[in-house]
Amino acid sequence: MNSNPETAVTVIGLGLMGQALASAFLRAGHPTTVWNRTASKADPLVAQGARLAPTIGDALKASSLTIICLTDYLAMHELLGANDIELHSTMLINLTSGDSTQAREAAQWAEQRGAHYLEGAIMAIPPTIGSAEAVILHSGPQSDFETHKSTLDALGTVTYLGADHGLASLYDVAGLAMMWSVLNAWLQGTALLRTAGVDAATYAPFAQQIATVVAEWLPGYAEQIDSGSFPAEVSALETDARAMAHLIEESEAVGVNAELPKLIKTMADRAIAAGHGGEQYPVLIEEFGKPRNH
Ligand code: NAP
Repeated sequence: MNSNPETAVTVIGLGLMGQALASAFLRAGHPTTVWNRTASKADPLVAQGARLAPTIGDALKASSLTIICLTDYLAMHELLGANDIELHSTMLINLTSGDSTQAREAAQWAEQRGAHYLEGAIMAIPPTIGSAEAVILHSGPQSDFETHKSTLDALGTVTYLGADHGLASLYDVAGLAMMWSVLNAWLQGTALLRTAGVDAATYAPFAQQIATVVAEWLPGYAEQIDSGSFPAEVSALETDARAMAHLIEESEAVGVNAELPKLIKTMADRAIAAGHGGEQYPVLIEEFGKPRNH
């Protein structure tokens, strides 16, 4: 990766992910200070050239940039919330996973203490950190991101999303929704086909093709959502709902789980009852965009 090797960095939190982050900085040539509640986890990094700070305060002072990677936001507040921890002018980049409210509150909290604060969401597993495959999303002040981008490049493919600190977490969960939806749809189809003796490996390339074709519809469908107009250019929702009924009937007839297709059809039926049956599939955004109160 293309990283500026002179910049000193501190990594706080040396769990599986924190260790991978610190190791990637070391490989890219950054002077790297580390700190962890359980100090022994720093041993392999010290062997690679990291400096273990004796205290968290010392770790924060050691570098112009500090990466935090802890279990959750509670851990971060417990650790950095003590009054004797000096955060003034510190650049904190928080790669701890959480939700958008926690991210915005943490940004406010850090900025009130005089720190610069960027949020990050890691969409990768530890072994890929340091390669282009590791996607890391950032949100917060753009100038802070641009100042530190060349250092962050050591970690993977880093992307800036916008000034709202909550964006990285929101993109993170949106990505998870996409991932699980694709996997669940594939598992539903696989369960159906296995009843006819078709194994998962035979269906997988076919499913891949469908997923690719459907993915190509997204930009056009996004235009419909953004304009709030859903003309049925290729298919009306009521036609899709009839196909959903087939999926449910087939699942029940061959004895596989029909919960997922039923959930999808319930949402489509509500949209049809609200008068949207003649519009195109993305009109369902109105169902997805509000809570369902039972
Ligand atoms: P982990 O191996 O369980 O490590 C957790 C880290 O948090 C350890 O350094 C632990 O210190 C520290 N910690 C927890 N509570 C603390 C407290 N009260 N005070 C001080 N330190 C505390 O977890 P991980 O896999 O590294 O994950 C870290 C973050 O990265 C999480 O938010 C996770 O969602 C995110 N992430 C992980 C992955 C992944 O594949 N692993 C992928 C994407 C994102 P000790 O060592 O002393 O216990």
